[in-house]
Amino acid sequence: MTQFVLGWEEWLSLPELGLPAILAKVDTGAKTSALHAFAIEPFGSADKPMVRFAIHPDPNDPALEIICSAPLKDRREVTSSNGETELRFVIETTIVMGGRSWPLEITLTDRGGMAYRMLLGRGAISDDMIVSPSQSFQQPELSFDSYHGIPRQKRHRRALRLAVLTREPNNYSTRRMIEAAEARGHTMEVIDTTRCYMNIRGVGGEVHYDGRCLPHYDAVIPRIGASITSYGTAVVRQFESLGTYCLARSDGITMSRDKLHAHQILARNKIGMPTTAFARSPKDSAHVIPLVGGAPLVLKLLESTQGKGVVLAETKKAAESVISAFQGLKADFLVQSFVKEAAGEDIRCLVVGGKVVASMRRKGKPDEFRSNLHQGGTAEPVKISKAEREIAVRAAKVMRLDFAGVDLLRSEDGPKVLEVNSSPGLEGIETMSGKDIAGMVMAHIETQVAPRPPRTKAKPATGDKT
Ligand code: ADP
Repeated sequence: MTQFVLGWEEWLSLPELGLPAILAKVDTGAKTSALHAFAIEPFGSADKPMVRFAIHPDPNDPALEIICSAPLKDRREVTSSNGETELRFVIETTIVMGGRSWPLEITLTDRGGMAYRMLLGRGAISDDMIVSPSQSFQQPELSFDSYHGIPRQKRHRRALRLAVLTREPNNYSTRRMIEAAEARGHTMEVIDTTRCYMNIRGVGGEVHYDGRCLPHYDAVIPRIGASITSYGTAVVRQFESLGTYCLARSDGITMSRDKLHAHQILARNKIGMPTTAFARSPKDSAHVIPLVGGAPLVLKLLESTQGKGVVLAETKKAAESVISAFQGLKADFLVQSFVKEAAGEDIRCLVVGGKVVASMRRKGKPDEFRSNLHQGGTAEPVKISKAEREIAVRAAKVMRLDFAGVDLLRSEDGPKVLEVNSSPGLEGIETMSGKDIAGMVMAHIETQVAPRPPRTKAKPATGDKT
């Protein structure tokens, strides 16, 4: 049998950590192997502890940063060559070198600035291996170039630390998000949005919760209820400024929630919608009715959700009296042309990552023009047209929402967008379509938080080798 010889420096890869090339120093003076990592953070439940860390694999390319996560095996006191004792996280992972692979315990340490990102201790070297300390690269050489140009889909999948911001930890959508995350090996923490508090700073802002500072999450799923939009979006903004990927962006939530703003954005982007007008002063109410083509027309309270503040006025007289009633209550509203041919039906398209992944038709009770399920409507699967698919994708895009429910009306002159929902419910659409929408959302999040090494290599830093 040919002997497996190791020089004093060797290339290796740690595929389970998503590290195709690491230059290691073989150090038989040390027992344990060590990886120089930073931002080391444990996470996960007590029965399945994990650790997350970051590494700059190429000492000369600080722009190349890979985030890794691994099951946490132990915490152990380790004394390094300079005599310092440190309590380190210990992981076990597979090492690949020269066509051989074997399991290896590695401790994580943040000593920064080391030219070798890994030390291979004698514990890593089995009896049939020989170390030749006067030679280097006895095994095939690899290159840091292997970090560049890896297609996103092929990138290493790691366990993610996720959080869902919700006040409803037990509702169907929250439960499904947690299930889908765990089924893919991630951890999901449930955070009550209204219990988050923050210090707002230019650099190093934090989100606190129940007396502790929240850790870094790979991604946050905001499920912000309409009653707490302002505070909820402030929490989301704070996570954004910490660099966390948020499935619904704060500006997208704000825009889509505000019916006036949403209609203006849709119109500006030439997305079809029912003709819409609004006015505030009672003096102008008579003028807005002709702007949308007269009666019949639909009046909507700006605060309306679930169809509760949406009224059909069949005649101009009826419209005028509803308007004066709304104004008497000092309630803001909009006026919209009535799309009669929609016949009490609308189409909910669920968009995930720029694609419609499921759709359903909702139909109101007999004699009801509102199709909301909360108004007693029923849902059934529907096949949507290319135009409907395109408009739904565009509406979600202009609202900057990666995950959205887009409601459409089928009108004589094509699909018209009614609303873009930033926290679409999953129960109806998953039941109707039989699809694992929560799983699709997780797959999308994975693509968004996958490491993105820069396309071009940064200029080598000087004086970095020690
Ligand atoms: P909400 O946000 O309260 O659900 P929507 O704008 O979605 O209010 O309206 C509720 C329902 O009323 C819609 O699902 C649709 O069926 C019906 N509807 C709303 N606007 C119109 C319209 N302009 N023409 C015809 N039907 C409409």
